[in-house]
Amino acid sequence: MKRVRFRDPAGSVRTGQWLDEEGNVAPDEIAGEGGVIRFADRTYTPDEVEILPPCEPSKIVCIGRNYAAHADERGESVPDRPLLFLKAPNAVASHESHVRLPAEKECIEYEAELAVIIGEQCRHVPASEALGVIDGYTCMVDLSNRDDQDRETNWVRGKAFDNAAPLGPVCADPEHVPEDASIELFLDGERKQDSSREYLIFSIPELIAEITTYMTLEPGDVIATGTPEGVGPLADGNEVVVEIEGIGRLRHTVSIP
Ligand code: MG
Repeated sequence: MKRVRFRDPAGSVRTGQWLDEEGNVAPDEIAGEGGVIRFADRTYTPDEVEILPPCEPSKIVCIGRNYAAHADERGESVPDRPLLFLKAPNAVASHESHVRLPAEKECIEYEAELAVIIGEQCRHVPASEALGVIDGYTCMVDLSNRDDQDRETNWVRGKAFDNAAPLGPVCADPEHVPEDASIELFLDGERKQDSSREYLIFSIPELIAEITTYMTLEPGDVIATGTPEGVGPLADGNEVVVEIEGIGRLRHTVSIP
């Protein structure tokens, strides 16, 4: 099932299902493109509604350098434990949003990431039980302001600016996202990132165990599992599309003031 939060034409916020054109549950359907959205006895086309982020996180816990090929392209070593940083709730942006990037920066880059949505309040979760606290998976772009990231230690300016985390379009059931799910990013239609979840250095259960050693995760919190290789700079007017197998396609544009 692919759950989608949306604002209906009357202005109500609903959680419905993203279905195929015929209104059937179709795990392989690319949510975010075509199909229909159903809530109760109402069915909408995606352009009749406003797609909202699939959850309302109290925090987004991000993982740095969790793919060896990306650490390599950044000229960094692979960490010996998960590298953690945070984005605040204001970083969330929705599917089809227009993200206004910080002004007067030389290099702001895209990073396609598989994101985990937490389903229950949890702390001290052993890796062996971690799959039980997952609500589902979604797509995220970890927008990264390298000008400041490369000058600061805690990456607040570099990673946590408003709308630095486009998220969506749906929350997909974990069983529909294979262990080797493909993760791709297209910039103005050209494929720039092409990898797979199988290359994660620290697995999702290991990440949940490590994070919950230090902090409580709340329902709706997000863990962004890191980006594979192929990151690159954004220019004014670019369209960014992240596609992850079993979830769908998250699209947004950027403007540089
Ligand atoms: Mg990242």
